[in-house]
Amino acid sequence: MIEEAARVRALVEAELDLLLGDLAAWVDLDTPGGDVEALDDLARLLAACCERYGLEPELVPSATGLYLHAALRGPGRARVALLCHHDTVFPAGTAAARPFRRDESRCYGPGVADMKGGIAVAVHAARALASGPRPFGLVEVVSCPDEESRPGPPDTIERLESFDAVLCLECGRPGGEIVSARKGAAWLRVHATGRAAHAGEAPRAGRNVAVALAREALRLAELDGARAGMTLQVTELEAGEGLNTVPSHGFLSADVRAASQADLEWAMGRIGDFPAVDGIAFRIEDLGGPPPFERSPATGLLAEAAIEIGRSLGHDFGEALAGGVSDGSWTASRAIPTLDGLGPVGGDDHSPAEYVETATFAPRCGVVAGLVASIDAGLLAASPTSHD
Ligand SMILES: [Zn+2]
Repeated sequence: MIEEAARVRALVEAELDLLLGDLAAWVDLDTPGGDVEALDDLARLLAACCERYGLEPELVPSATGLYLHAALRGPGRARVALLCHHDTVFPAGTAAARPFRRDESRCYGPGVADMKGGIAVAVHAARALASGPRPFGLVEVVSCPDEESRPGPPDTIERLESFDAVLCLECGRPGGEIVSARKGAAWLRVHATGRAAHAGEAPRAGRNVAVALAREALRLAELDGARAGMTLQVTELEAGEGLNTVPSHGFLSADVRAASQADLEWAMGRIGDFPAVDGIAFRIEDLGGPPPFERSPATGLLAEAAIEIGRSLGHDFGEALAGGVSDGSWTASRAIPTLDGLGPVGGDDHSPAEYVETATFAPRCGVVAGLVASIDAGLLAASPTSHD
């Protein structure tokens, strides 16, 4: 597997201009989430590119645009998905204003790190794998059109259930780290109902929801940091129907983040444990949120193997817990062995300063290839969460 990693790395290195040319073309096409026409144009361009490189692309329609599934088959057993997305957070016109560019060490442009650079790693790792002994049964490049705005899992997630592993190519952390865990979020509203009354004539007849919610906000704020890595922010607070009325209804909203589902559920339980307040009724509205990506034993095996392969290539990195979510959160929460942050090393996502380190494309392709070969050689066989 180390040999295959080294071979793929060397091949991509020798033809880096080809990868960067593809990346430039993809970055220079704006693909804001929701612009189905633009997203489908890029999905078709990606499919054509995959076909040129020996993969069998399929474009799967959805309400938010085409999903790309491009398969590369081999004589082995491992089934590995390389998970990407081709929407960005930047509006039409951004690429014209600041197109793809590179200096001595970095590439820039809208979506270069999040995550068109990751697509470049997936497609070129697959291209290089196609030219070798193919130590796998199936490598599938998957790209979603709607990751940045979708509240639920990818439309085609059922197709990933049978894979041995999902390698998600969001960019590596600025220090090079891969991502082996991500926090999940729980969003909620607390609604309060009291009793309206004239604030001057009959203040005691009212039941004041503004005061009750203010107290609730302080109670909830105490939960921030109550468990390691758990955060809780009260993000909205609204009550009242007029200047001279005792407020009878209102709500507050909260954003809870935690590394484990157990911590999120614990927080929800505490939030719902409302104090008795005479004449005031509280009610929780659960607004959902992406699940935590917990570091399962299988994820641990993938992370340790990736770090070892990287070291053998002279590309040293560690692993990290990320606060933001990705489509890897959805696959991990379905117990599909998942590792993330395998795209090029970069940062400043969602900002004009977004960049990737050019020298990391080839070694990241090598790490992906080495992981595929390792999985084929039985890396996950002992893992309790691996599929048969
Ligand atoms: Zn992303």
